[in-house]
Amino acid sequence: MSADHIRNTSAMSASPRCGAGTRGGLACRAPAVRGKRRCRMHGGAAGSGAPRRNRNARKHGAFTRERIAERRAIRTLLGEAEKLLAELASDSLPAKGQSS
Ligand SMILES: [Zn+2]
Repeated sequence: MSADHIRNTSAMSASPRCGAGTRGGLACRAPAVRGKRRCRMHGGAAGSGAPRRNRNARKHGAFTRERIAERRAIRTLLGEAEKLLAELASDSLPAKGQSS
């Protein structure tokens, strides 16, 4: 047991502090939660705060990148099918006219 451990608080005081404004007008000096900028009382507690990437704003997922790309692919496929059908119709119409 080392003799100086009781007053060795340098690591503790070097830890990041909260700094949130308090009702007293001063900054909070409580230690910030590990990996966060605020203390456990000022929004640093586990489970507090908004989820990542604003997931609260997502209601139904109809406008996610994947769904938009899916709709675009379907539209291009439909356009190609329509073009192919028109091509087939224009090819077959004279043939029908000749046969009848
Ligand atoms: Zn605080």
